[in-house]
Amino acid sequence: MVKTHRSYTVDEAARALGVAKGTIRRWLKSGKLSAIEGLRPALILGRELAGFLDKRRKPKQSCALQECYCLTCRAPRETAGGMADITLHANGGGNLRALCAVCSGIMHKRVSSATIPALQTILDVAIQQASSRIGKRAFPCPNDH
Ligand SMILES: [Zn+2]
Repeated sequence: MVKTHRSYTVDEAARALGVAKGTIRRWLKSGKLSAIEGLRPALILGRELAGFLDKRRKPKQSCALQECYCLTCRAPRETAGGMADITLHANGGGNLRALCAVCSGIMHKRVSSATIPALQTILDVAIQQASSRIGKRAFPCPNDH
């Protein structure tokens, strides 16, 4: 693990993070990671590295449009069979419910009304009104090849 009180060369940083040296250099170049100024070869402060690692470890877990975050898998997953149910809320937007393609667990995610048409092009979406218990497939997938 990264020790915050020491400095790391590119080589050591790569090993500590389990990435290629080229990756560290790229991060340094792009400013994602900063080295101690004026030193050649580059030395990275341990706490800089630890902070970077921390940020990377907690990504926003943003899912692709057709994915939901599966609490069982603890990862964004595609929906089983490309199917999803969306319950529309009266105030716009909705709640998408689908089965995880990997573990078949139920996944939920909030969707905005703006993304629903896009979802319909990639998923077989069944739209339900929040008020009615019986959903009907109001919008069949338009791209039915
Ligand atoms: Zn899952």
